[in-house]
Amino acid sequence: MNTTPAEHADERTGGCRCGLIQFTVTGSAIYPHTCSCVDCQKLGGGPMMWWAGWPAERIAWSGWDSIKWFETFKDEAKRGFCPECGTRLAAIDSNIPEIGINVTALESTTGADLIPINQSFRKTAVHWLPQVPDAAASTVG
Ligand SMILES: [Zn+2]
Ligand SMILES: [Zn+2]
Repeated sequence: MNTTPAEHADERTGGCRCGLIQFTVTGSAIYPHTCSCVDCQKLGGGPMMWWAGWPAERIAWSGWDSIKWFETFKDEAKRGFCPECGTRLAAIDSNIPEIGINVTALESTTGADLIPINQSFRKTAVHWLPQVPDAAASTVG
């Protein structure tokens, strides 16, 4: 197990539970956030998913061709997962330049750049879980 604090490491590794698909992301995450939309709840199997983005050129994949994609919005957004173990790995959205990585697919989820700065789709969030403080509200005070 890697004991180096992730915030001091330029690279992070991740992958699916069975090991068929693995990846390395380089550099800081972009727009870390949670999402409680109905797709994240159904596909993620929990009350929300935790996302962070990296530009495609800063993600090195092993097993990319094995990823199975499910289109949540035809020709606009899709979610990638391992066809063997079902681990959720990535999201590609035509409106977003980065590839979304399911943060819990990383080996280590420490690092200040992974702390969610916002939560999407609060209206469909489960009622019993505290929500991520609103980014816009927190800048006002
Ligand atoms: Zn797998
Ligand atoms: Zn979502």
